[in-house]
Amino acid sequence: MRDFSDDHRWLSLNTATVRKQGDLIAIIDACARHGIRAIDPWRDQVAAVGLDRAARAVKDAGLDLSGYCRGGMFTADSARRSEVRDDNRRAVDEAAELGAPCIVLVVGGLPQYSRPGSAASKDIAAARNQVHDGIAEMLDYAKQVKLPLAIEPLHPAYAADRACVNTTKHALDICDALDPGRTGAIGVALDVYHIWWDPELRSQIARAGKDRLLAFHVCDWLVPTRDILNDRGMMGDGVIDIKSVRAMVEAQGFAGYSEIEIFSNDWWSRPLDEVLGTCIERHRSVV
Ligand code: ZN
Repeated sequence: MRDFSDDHRWLSLNTATVRKQGDLIAIIDACARHGIRAIDPWRDQVAAVGLDRAARAVKDAGLDLSGYCRGGMFTADSARRSEVRDDNRRAVDEAAELGAPCIVLVVGGLPQYSRPGSAASKDIAAARNQVHDGIAEMLDYAKQVKLPLAIEPLHPAYAADRACVNTTKHALDICDALDPGRTGAIGVALDVYHIWWDPELRSQIARAGKDRLLAFHVCDWLVPTRDILNDRGMMGDGVIDIKSVRAMVEAQGFAGYSEIEIFSNDWWSRPLDEVLGTCIERHRSVV
């Protein structure tokens, strides 16, 4: 397992962590100040400054990308199927333009929450079938530009409104069905916030293997969690044994970035440099 205690060269910043403190250009400048050498930007943050400008800023700063957030939200009623397809194709094009190594998929929950305006449904089995078909369709497109898709299983608390793929096993089942030859075209983005509780975690990470482990996200689970979406903890402030999960992915050969992704009303209210300074310190001590 790599030793992170001496430097933060394997720290990547998911730019949603400081989305309230500045635009993407300001965040990239701050990364340069702090010696952070990789980011995972969000589509809305890229759109806000313009794709060309964002791509140039990433290149000028010499930044690596650890992913692009996000594609998905595959569940919709029939009136919105083409919207889903076109939106995800644009996400692939943007990720390719930015030079991202993969696009992170948050697959969608029930259609009325995934694609607002869709007819309401309580059929989660149907939603899961739609997710499977939607990923299959997107995969055909993404393969043409050699852009890997990384399915992010989300904690079951999000099954209704964000993602009905809730375990690493389910995400890997989809990967195996769509890419039995393990070509590298599809894999998983594992976020400790979503998977730390899973009794099958170790065996499923072993099943994933190096070729399916495309991204690794870190933050912490606070007790109590006051807001299921926007009360994620800074690493070390909660109950997740982050090092042990990192040891599991690295035992499979994962050698990429540990991407810090914290959606938190608390951390969004603090100065940008304070947040990044704390991220670096915790990356060294508890990640
Ligand atoms: Zn994540």
